[in-house]
Order: sequence, then C-alpha cells, then structure tokens
Amino acid sequence: MIISQNPATEEEIERFDGMSEQDVEEALVKAHALFPTFSSRKKLSERTERLTALGELLRQNKDELAKLMTLEMGKPITQAKAEVEKSATCCDYYAKNAEAILKDRVIESDNKSSYVRWLPIGPVLAVMPWNFPLWQVIRFAAPALAAGNVCLLKHASNVPKMALRIEELCLEAGFPVGAFQTLLIGSGMVEGVIQDSRVKGVTLTGSEPAGRAVAERAGANLKPSVLELGGADPFIIMPSADLDAAVKTAVKARTQNTGQSCIAAKRFIVHEKIHAAFLDKFIHALEKLKVDNPLFEDTDIGPLATKDIRDELAEQVDTSVRAGADIAFQGKAPEGPGHWYPPTVLIDIPEDCPAAIEELFGPVASVFKVESLDEAIDLANSSRFGLGSAAWTKEKSEQAEFIDRLEAGFTAINGMTTSDPRLPFGGIKDSGYGRELSNLGMREFLNAKTITVN
Ligand code: NDP
Repeated sequence: MIISQNPATEEEIERFDGMSEQDVEEALVKAHALFPTFSSRKKLSERTERLTALGELLRQNKDELAKLMTLEMGKPITQAKAEVEKSATCCDYYAKNAEAILKDRVIESDNKSSYVRWLPIGPVLAVMPWNFPLWQVIRFAAPALAAGNVCLLKHASNVPKMALRIEELCLEAGFPVGAFQTLLIGSGMVEGVIQDSRVKGVTLTGSEPAGRAVAERAGANLKPSVLELGGADPFIIMPSADLDAAVKTAVKARTQNTGQSCIAAKRFIVHEKIHAAFLDKFIHALEKLKVDNPLFEDTDIGPLATKDIRDELAEQVDTSVRAGADIAFQGKAPEGPGHWYPPTVLIDIPEDCPAAIEELFGPVASVFKVESLDEAIDLANSSRFGLGSAAWTKEKSEQAEFIDRLEAGFTAINGMTTSDPRLPFGGIKDSGYGRELSNLGMREFLNAKTITVN
C-alpha cells in the first residue's frame, strides 16, 4: 500500500495499491516496444515540441501542482510555485538546446571522416526522492525524453499523487503512451527492474544507503548509473566577506525547503574574526522566519516531510547535544499534529557527533569557528560528502584557494549552491557520481558512438 499523507496535519490524502509484478511487466513491455520508434533521430523536433508543450502545461497548472506538492510533502507554497516554474524552464532549456547537444562531434583522424554520434540507449529507470517532487523528476526526464530515451519513474512512496500527475502531464503534452511511465512500487521492487534486460540505465537521487543498493545492482548488471546522494555542504565565511549578504544567503541556503535539500548549506565555517557578528545576525534573521501551515503564502518553514525524517533529525540534534554541542538558538514549532522541527543553531560542536559528520535534513545549522583559510578548508573537506560548497571572501587569492581545494562538485563564491538547467550538477566522494543537467547531464545516458567513414 502506498499512502499519500499531509505532513502538516497527518491526515491521509489517498492510498494506492502498489503495482504488482505483472503491472511492472506490462510497463516494461510498453517501454521496450516504444523505444525503437520514439528514439528515431528524425523525430528529434517532434520530441522537443512535446517538451515545450510539457513546460507550458506545467505553467498552466502551476497552482494545482504547487498545492499538490505542499499537501503531500509540506513544502511552503511559494517555494512550491517556484519549483513548478523552474521545472518548466528545464523543459524549455532542453527543448531549445537538445539539437546542439546531440550534434555530431567531428574529430580529425586518419579516416576520411570520423565523429562521435550521441545515441539514446533505451528505457532508463529514475528512482527519485520526495524533497523536490517535480523538479527532480523533470530534470531527469526532460533531457532523457529529448534525446529519445524512454523514462520509468519510481518516485518516493510518500508522493504517489505527484508521480501519477507527471505521467498524465507527459501524455497531455503529446508524448506517446510508454514514453514516461510511473511505477507505483516500493523500494523492494527496484532491484528487479534494474536487473531486467530491457532497462538500460538507472539514476537515483536520495540517501547514501539507497544509492549504494542501486549502484551495486547496476554494477552487477553492467548498467550505467548516476547517483546524486546526500551532502553536508560547507558554507565558509572569511573576514573580508560582505557579512550582511552572507547572512541573508546563509539563511536561505539552510532553510529553503525546510532544510530538506541535498545542496543546502549545512556546516557554517566562520572565521573567528567575524564569528560572533555572524552568529548574532544569523540568529536574528532566523528568529524572523515564520514556521507555520505551508499552504499560507507567508510561511517560510513548513513541517518535515515524514515522521521518520523528523524523528531522525531530532535524534541527530539530541545526540550532538549529549556529545557536548550547545544550542545557540531554537525557534518555535506549531503545537498539535504535524512533523514539525523548529529552526535551530548548534555551536561548539564536537568532532565526531552527527552535527559534524552526518547530513542534517532539516532547518538545523551547525556553526563552526576557525582561525585560518587552511583550517576552514580542512574542516570543509573532512566530510565524507562532496556535493556543493560555498565560500564568501572578497580576496581573489582566497577565492582561488577555495575553487581549487574544496572537495565538491560545485563551489559558489559569494553565493550558494543552486541547480540550474544550464549548469552541470552532481557530487564527488559519498555524494555520488555522474552529472545531471546541462550537456553533461544529457550525455550520461547516451551512447557516445564513434563513427569512421572511409
Ligand atoms: P531514500 O533514499 O530512502 O529515498 C529516495 C528514493 O530511493 C525513494 O524513491 C525510495 O523509495 C528509494 N529507495 C530507498 N531505498 C532504496 C533501496 N534500497 N533500493 C532502491 N530504492 C530505494 O530517502 P528517505 O526519503 O528515506 O530520506 C532519508 C535521508 O536521505 C534523508 O534524511 C536525507 O538525508 C537523504 N535524502 C537525500 C536526498 C537528496 O536530495 N540528496 C533526497 C532524499 C533523502 P521509497 O520511498 O519507496 O522508500
């Protein structure tokens, strides 16, 4: 049974029977049968037209989609609307750029002519999380569909209605039956789908254990995989930084989506010269955030998406405090039902406690004090994760050090890590491998076929 439940009220929205093995088999048959015609190079413009239509449909249905997201996983409604807009721009980006990205790459050699041609590989499985329930799916599906791959979505079990709605919208946009299918299945059935010879690749965004399980299965079956896993992104602030701008961005980077973002800034590493001033301003800004019903337009922080996520976060904070960390600030959460956790700031954090080494998936900031740039970089790199990173400094020489030495898939100087269809996105270390978005993301599930003609 797959249940959609409102995390702000704990009320059940709807329950669905999960798909049976037979249902999954029928979906695979459809996907496999469609691929040869759908993927034809001659149909590129047809596919990109449909992608443009999908972007339009997302915009037309913005309010309904945003409300659905907010009801199923608790995202503040204004952020849900922004997610729909952003997803539409991702459709536009690939509709506009697919042709250029897929263009043959000519390479001089001893042959009369030689080049690389990018060809789709077939049905690809996407195992997706609930935190950006529309964006994560579209950022996979838009390049895949444009290139001619066929999509199978196994969405997180707490967002089944969004999963089904995306399939409906793809059909409404004119994609043929089978081009995008939602598999309403639990994680236990993923292994079988990856193993199936008709499925040619798998991408997962989610936790490290889920990533390891999927990568193991993909590896055993010699299938390409992309993993976008957790992060404990550092946000470093040096003395020359514009402190007010850094604080403003720090608040957004830690609390947007109620802190449930892989690229949220999680560890604030602040130079001792400005540590006290930063903490003061940061806490002052957090105090002003409104923690309330996510359907209200002025809500900044909603509930966490599920009881498990909330309980795990509370346990991580409690364990960190028992280990010696201090709570420098803790806001208030609404009384009554719902999976609430208030904005919280931890300081004096011991080395091995959860706030120092784990991903905290909620509005809890870990703030550290350092004496030098080298110490900041060492602390940032001490994490086993390597997704995003941010460094605030006006000194060009310091910027250069951060750019080269921070172990991450993204370094934002005087900004925050974001995802943008035009820019490659992904991590290193235990944050996974491969890239999404941009030309690199599109090519992950393409066959770079070498052609020689004589
Ligand atoms: P999961 O990684 O468990 O869920 C993400 C997706 O993976 C879901 O579709 C889930 O399906 C599926 N999945 C889970 N386990 C397996 C498995 N063994 N094999 C195949 N698929 C699997 O994340 P949670 O929702 O449980 O969140 C736990 C933690 O993960 C968070 O606190 C956070 O730290 C991290 N996370 C990171 C995200 C990111 O963006 N990097 C996104 C979400 C979570 P199902 O829902 O059916 O279990």
